[in-house]
Amino acid sequence: MSKITRLERMRFSILTNDLNYCYVCGSLKHSLHEIYFGKNRVNSMKWGCVVPLCLNHHTGIDGVHHNIELDTKLKQECQKKFQEVYPDIDFMSIFYKNYL
Ligand SMILES: [Zn+2]
Ligand SMILES: [Zn+2]
Repeated sequence: MSKITRLERMRFSILTNDLNYCYVCGSLKHSLHEIYFGKNRVNSMKWGCVVPLCLNHHTGIDGVHHNIELDTKLKQECQKKFQEVYPDIDFMSIFYKNYL
């Protein structure tokens, strides 16, 4: 099993304990979304910066991959949560970006 596959299977979320329902609207989840996707996708998986999303809120017209406002909102919420959950770790030293 590749390292990425293993990370994908172990995905967890610091934002919610319930990975079965969409983080935005509460309907049944379609997939898990890495909040800092692109080159930070692996970091997102490692640190639990992942949320369950329905199809609409993932890749649909209103979804994070198209809706910059929702994307930014999730990135900000997750950075705040990260700082709460890992008070000794500097978010920017891992993700090299500050969303707040
Ligand atoms: Zn949804
Ligand atoms: Zn995604």
